[in-house]
Amino acid sequence: MGELQVLISQEQIHDCVREFALSIRKDYGEEPLLLVGVLKGSFHLISDLARELGGETTIDFIQVSSYGHEKSSSGIVQIRKDLDTNIEGKNVLIVEDIVDTGATLSHLRELLATRKPKSLRVVALLSKPQARKMNAAAEYVGFEIPDEFVVGYGLDYAERYRNLPYIAILREG
Ligand code: 5GP
Repeated sequence: MGELQVLISQEQIHDCVREFALSIRKDYGEEPLLLVGVLKGSFHLISDLARELGGETTIDFIQVSSYGHEKSSSGIVQIRKDLDTNIEGKNVLIVEDIVDTGATLSHLRELLATRKPKSLRVVALLSKPQARKMNAAAEYVGFEIPDEFVVGYGLDYAERYRNLPYIAILREG
């Protein structure tokens, strides 16, 4: 069993999601938005954000290969489940749990850009700037965190902890 240390509370996350919605609405006005959630880690964020945004907001999901049961990135990114919808001409917001090395995000941006969206931006709850290997900044970032392994609010360790309503650092116990 690992030991959990709360890093970002439920209330802080809630405030952050409200700020995301305000910034996004400031930038896009009432234009329709398509949220693309990166499975599985983004499921809380995309759900909370969609409700805060209101308006004409649609949702789709994409799944890429991730760490599996490991705690570090392989750097290899593969599509496991593609989008169901055509994003051409749409305002697309990629919704990510965390940007770590940046490999996932830079790959996704490149891939989705080839499908000619009207605009393409990224919302990421967490960012680990110290771990960055690729140039992959998100336009909307919630919290910059230290290079520690975190779980909760969608983020797992071997599929556990996704249901925590807060973000915690997981240390080997
Ligand atoms: P990147 O491609 O930026 O290295 O990694 C992105 C993905 O790695 C995230 O979407 C997430 O699934 C996983 N990841 C990166 N850091 C962490 C972490 O601290 N905890 C967990 N649970 N997953 C992480």
